[in-house]
Amino acid sequence: MAIDLHTHSTASDGTLAPAEVVRQAKACGLSALALTDHDTTDSFAGATEEAARLGIELVPGIEINTDAGQGELHFLGYLIRPADPGLRAVLARVREQRLARTRAILSRLREAGISVEEAAVLRAANGATICRPHIARALVEAGYAESVPDAFQRYLSRRSPFYVPRAGLTAQEAISVICRAGGVPVLSHPGRLPEEAVLALLPMGLRGIEAYHPEHSDEVAARWHALAERKGLVATGGSDYHGPRSVHPEWGLGAVRAPAEVLAGLRRAQEDLTRFE
Ligand code: AMP
Ligand code: MN
Ligand code: MN
Ligand code: MN
Repeated sequence: MAIDLHTHSTASDGTLAPAEVVRQAKACGLSALALTDHDTTDSFAGATEEAARLGIELVPGIEINTDAGQGELHFLGYLIRPADPGLRAVLARVREQRLARTRAILSRLREAGISVEEAAVLRAANGATICRPHIARALVEAGYAESVPDAFQRYLSRRSPFYVPRAGLTAQEAISVICRAGGVPVLSHPGRLPEEAVLALLPMGLRGIEAYHPEHSDEVAARWHALAERKGLVATGGSDYHGPRSVHPEWGLGAVRAPAEVLAGLRRAQEDLTRFE
C-alpha cells in the first residue's frame, strides 16, 4: 500500500477542503495521507471524520517554513498532537507575522501604483494561513495579473522588488516546536542544498529527509535517500499536492508516494524521541 506524506488543503494554500483531499486520496488508492498545511494543524479536524468513514489513515502533519540565513528551509512535522497548546500558540504568532508581512508586500505594491486591498487578500485566504498564493489571487482579481503563476512572476517571486521574507522561526525553533508537540521533524524537499547544510540540522534534532518530491530528479532523490540511510534518518516522500487550479496544478495527488514502511519508520522515530522525554 502506498502513502502520500505531503499535501495542502484550504487550511493553507491548497484549493481543496481537507475532507475532499481525503476523498481523492482514497480514490487514487492510497492507504494513508498526511495533510501538511503551512503553519497550521487546522486541516486535521476537518479531515478526521471523512478519513474514518473511508478507512484511510490520516497522519497528523504540518509544514513549517523557516527563513534561515542562507535561505529558506521547510520542515515537515509528522505524528504531532494537532491540538497541542504550545504548538498552537507558536503557530498563532507565526500566522500573525504572516499578516504583517502581507501588509508590507501590499504597501510596496501600492508605492508602485499597484493597489490591492488587504480585505481582498483576507477574502482569498478565507481563514487559512495567509500565503503568497492568496496575494496572487487578489492581484488576479484586481486585474494586475492573468493567473496565479503570472502574479508570482511579476510581483511575488523572491527576486521581485516587492518581495518581503517571512519573519517566522529559525530551523532550530521549528524542529524543537515539532518535537515538543510529540512529532517527528523531517526536512522538506532539500533539492540541491549542500549536504553540510543538512548535516548541520542533525544535532538540532532532525529525524528525516523528504527524499522523494516532484521537484527532485531521480538523481537528487537517490542522493538524499542514501544520506538518510547512512545517518539513520527516515527517507520520506510526498507529492506536495495543492489541488486543481492551484500554484502547482501539475503536482498530482499520489504522484509521488512512499511505501507504507515509511510510516512505520516515522513511528519508530517518534518512540525514540519520547523515550528521552
Ligand atoms: P509563502 O509561504 O507565503 O511565502 O508562500 C509560499 C507558497 O507559494 C509555496 O508554498 C508555494 O505553494 C507557492 N509558491 C512559491 N513560489 C512560487 C512560484 N514561483 N510560483 C507559484 N507558486 C509559488
Ligand atoms: Mn504551498
Ligand atoms: Mn515547502
Ligand atoms: Mn508543501
